[in-house]
Amino acid sequence: NDLASLMDVSVNEVISVCMSLGMFVSINQRLDAEAITIIADEFNYDVEFTKSDEEESIIETKDAPDELEERAPIVTIMGHVDHGKTSLLDYIRRSKVTHGEAGGITQHIGAYDVMTNTGHKIAFLDTPGHEAFTAMRARGAKITDVAIIVIAADDNVMPQTKEAINHAQVAGVPMIFAINKVDKPNANPNKIKEELANMNLLVEDWGGKYQSQEISAKTGLGIDELLEKVLLEAEILELKANPNKNAIGTVVEASLDKGRGYVSTIMVQAGTLRVGDVILAGQHYGRVKAMFDHLGKKVEAAAPSTPVQVLGLGGAPQAGDIFKVYDTEREAREIANSREQIQREQSLRTKKHITLDEIGRRLAIGSFKELNIIIKGDVDGSVEALSDSLLKLSKDEVSVNIIHQGVGQISESDVLLASASDAIILGFQVRPSANAKRLAEQEEIEIRHYSVIYDAINQIKDAIEGMLEPEF
Ligand code: GDP
Repeated sequence: NDLASLMDVSVNEVISVCMSLGMFVSINQRLDAEAITIIADEFNYDVEFTKSDEEESIIETKDAPDELEERAPIVTIMGHVDHGKTSLLDYIRRSKVTHGEAGGITQHIGAYDVMTNTGHKIAFLDTPGHEAFTAMRARGAKITDVAIIVIAADDNVMPQTKEAINHAQVAGVPMIFAINKVDKPNANPNKIKEELANMNLLVEDWGGKYQSQEISAKTGLGIDELLEKVLLEAEILELKANPNKNAIGTVVEASLDKGRGYVSTIMVQAGTLRVGDVILAGQHYGRVKAMFDHLGKKVEAAAPSTPVQVLGLGGAPQAGDIFKVYDTEREAREIANSREQIQREQSLRTKKHITLDEIGRRLAIGSFKELNIIIKGDVDGSVEALSDSLLKLSKDEVSVNIIHQGVGQISESDVLLASASDAIILGFQVRPSANAKRLAEQEEIEIRHYSVIYDAINQIKDAIEGMLEPEF
């Protein structure tokens, strides 16, 4: 209906064009961007999409330069299991959190603030691991400014280390390598630096661009220096936000507490959040009844890069949802309702992510430029061979990117990466784990299985040449 009136044609004409394209729609149905483009084209209209208010205003885009003030960096710690992520977070929390009068046991709220020896603030997300990081990014959240990649000096650069590096690189988040466990007699930090160098990641003291720091999460050695390096990285990024506007930021976690109702931890990224503000996150809204910092202390206001626990939302939003303050409860309610409706309709219809069959349709409307692929296989040799051949399929109009490749079962983390980067997953002689399979269904990620390299190459080739029959 809206589209028809924008183009000044009758609704029936639009519906019949939809039917001729194989889309059976009702008058009030919402259409996705591609459908709108195709239909408009039938009526000789060009479509221009603008970004939603939220995407634009999350950080500083709309602020005048003189309204911006420096803000603290927000840091995520990633790395291979047992390399010391939790120990590092614990050490930092124990030694660097300014304990309040309250006696100061930090609560686990998903994030916390520290004050460095030099008097600078850093905010940490304390869900270690790249799963949380990528799950958030899959929801569009850009919350991490700097990633610390922990690598144990008595071990090697391991598969999950590579994955973490990969995730940070795909997200364009600068990394600092924390080479941990240097207190151990068998620690060999140089070997780690060499392995990194072999991956084209040359650390600074070897003449490269990546900062690294030898640390011990057990004794605390090197941790002050690590935090200073985070600050240095932050300085380069010139992190700024306008504190004098309605708050906006990202949900870190949320739960239902028996006594207190819905409790959400949010990271304020711009503006200042105050008790009494009307906030909306995902499909849930409410007035902020009370706020607590990571020490459980009541606070009245939270500035940019501050994590706070908030009471008052009418439900539990998802980690990674953007929250925003509105001037009136009515406005927030209307948006919440329309989001609920959009979600209900979309879950019925649209494909969230690319599939090989979908490529033909996207090519036809010229909205397809690159195909992101994740390859998992049973042995290194076939993964390499497949990846080399697929890369060669790139052409001017469509580039093929292998954003991650590895040996082993298709894992949940592969699916999350695919979801965050709109990729398809190719499994060569390997299957997904049960959880990965479930997640792929939920996230609508296509997983294709092959046992002959030639078949995989041919199918991808056909797809990017628009030769696979599109399915509407
Ligand atoms: P995570 O899986 O990456 O979170 O790793 P943990 O923080 O749980 O650490 C795994 C194991 O390594 C634990 O037994 C820690 O006590 C130990 N560990 C972590 N950091 C250090 C360190 O700097 N030195 C030594 N000696 N042990 C460490």
